[in-house]
Amino acid sequence: SRDTREVRDYIRTIVDFPKEGILFRDVTTLFADARGFRMAVDQLLNPYAGEQIDKVVGLEARGFILGGAVAHQLSVGFVPIRKKGKLPGAVLSQAYELEYGEAVVEIHDDALNPGDRVLIVDDLLATGGTAAAGIALCERLGAEVIGCAFVIDLPELGGRKLLEEMGHEVFALTAFE
Ligand code: IMP
Repeated sequence: SRDTREVRDYIRTIVDFPKEGILFRDVTTLFADARGFRMAVDQLLNPYAGEQIDKVVGLEARGFILGGAVAHQLSVGFVPIRKKGKLPGAVLSQAYELEYGEAVVEIHDDALNPGDRVLIVDDLLATGGTAAAGIALCERLGAEVIGCAFVIDLPELGGRKLLEEMGHEVFALTAFE
């Protein structure tokens, strides 16, 4: 009979990872399934049909997998934003707050051109700290972030609200309370 599974049905939940009390939403089971992965990539692109996009920017690490496929589908280039110390060339760095301490993400300082219209892609939006730092890096290079696309939104953690208050459009395929 016809397969009626939706994207969210392919996402696995791991209890108490990476620490007690956390429900980790695991997209490896989505990526591993041919039908699920194609559905996710196709649906991520839906809102941007007919929009000019010059680059896809993916956030380490699952944003690379999704963003690479999205960029290929759009026939545009892919730009990685990585954790501190991983990119080999000259970088811009952006710090952001974590629950305990801070993290730093980086982009190559020549990866985007002023005026480039950029789509940011990641697997999951939680507090929005990672995406906000990624947006800041793109904007520091003079690019325009035309959207932020995620497979999963965790609305209770406030990321969508944060990014929308910053004036950015957020799109997610599914939400978990
Ligand atoms: P934020 O910065 O709080 O929005 O957290 C989002 C970042 O943490 C993304 O890069 C996600 O890949 C990662 N992340 C946080 N929680 C989860 C989860 O439950 N599953 C997968 N990734 C997660």
